[in-house]
Amino acid sequence: MITGLPHRPCPLVLAAPSGTGKTTIAHALVDRFDHFVFSVSATTRPARTGEVDGRDYEFVSRERFRAMIEGDELVEWAEVHGNLYGTPARNLEAAQARGEHVVLDIDVQGAQQIRRRIPEAVLVFIFPPSAETLWTRLTARGTEELDEVRRRLRAGRHELEEAIHFDYIVVNEDLERAVARVRAIVEAESHRPRRILDFGGQVRRLRGEIDGVIRTGDNDSRPSE
Ligand code: ADP
Ligand code: 5GP
Repeated sequence: MITGLPHRPCPLVLAAPSGTGKTTIAHALVDRFDHFVFSVSATTRPARTGEVDGRDYEFVSRERFRAMIEGDELVEWAEVHGNLYGTPARNLEAAQARGEHVVLDIDVQGAQQIRRRIPEAVLVFIFPPSAETLWTRLTARGTEELDEVRRRLRAGRHELEEAIHFDYIVVNEDLERAVARVRAIVEAESHRPRRILDFGGQVRRLRGEIDGVIRTGDNDSRPSE
């Protein structure tokens, strides 16, 4: 009896204008649900208070970052708000090998590169509920000076133009609702035939069993001598 078919995990890309809440959603998915793992990016940005090297980011020098690019260690990378950020390929490979959904919290340039290099990735654009909310969240987070907040908002204006190229749009007004919607997207994606492991084999096996049931049924219904 089959209760579920084994499937390949989904690399999940979350992108959004800065301050929308994609990091919060990414961490909520990883903390609350089994089989989700966060892709720890490499960055040349200095750590913020409270950020932990290896958990939030792998904080590296520009030289080390360049060496990672040249060594083909990154599946994608981009310059964002004046710093370099990139996704180490080993994160994706390790998650794939363990059958886990890897969550990438990256910018829209990175998302476009992932689309080209990993066609099976699911791209979700997290949409801010309003400009005021973005301003409030960015200033309340307190991690950037006001000039940097303005710079990030201007960048966010451009990033919104790319939203149309994503697979899904989820508004992050209420955090619980947004997390539930992203979780539901991954659940639905996991049921696509192309993600099911050896779906052809599963179909062949079931067809063979159906033939067996038909044969047995024929024998059972034959009058006994
Ligand atoms: P991003 O990763 O998109 O830059 P963050 O995840 O850092 O954004 O969120 C920005 C700020 O907004 C954080 O202080 C976070 O706690 C807060 N936040 C995120 N989602 C919500 C929400 N749905 N409602 C209220 N505050 C939120
Ligand atoms: P922050 O400095 O606020 O942590 O991140 C700034 C921006 O860089 C965010 O949009 C974040 O999603 C993006 N970012 C973080 N890691 C990566 C990465 O590995 N690749 C790319 N392309 N962008 C990233």
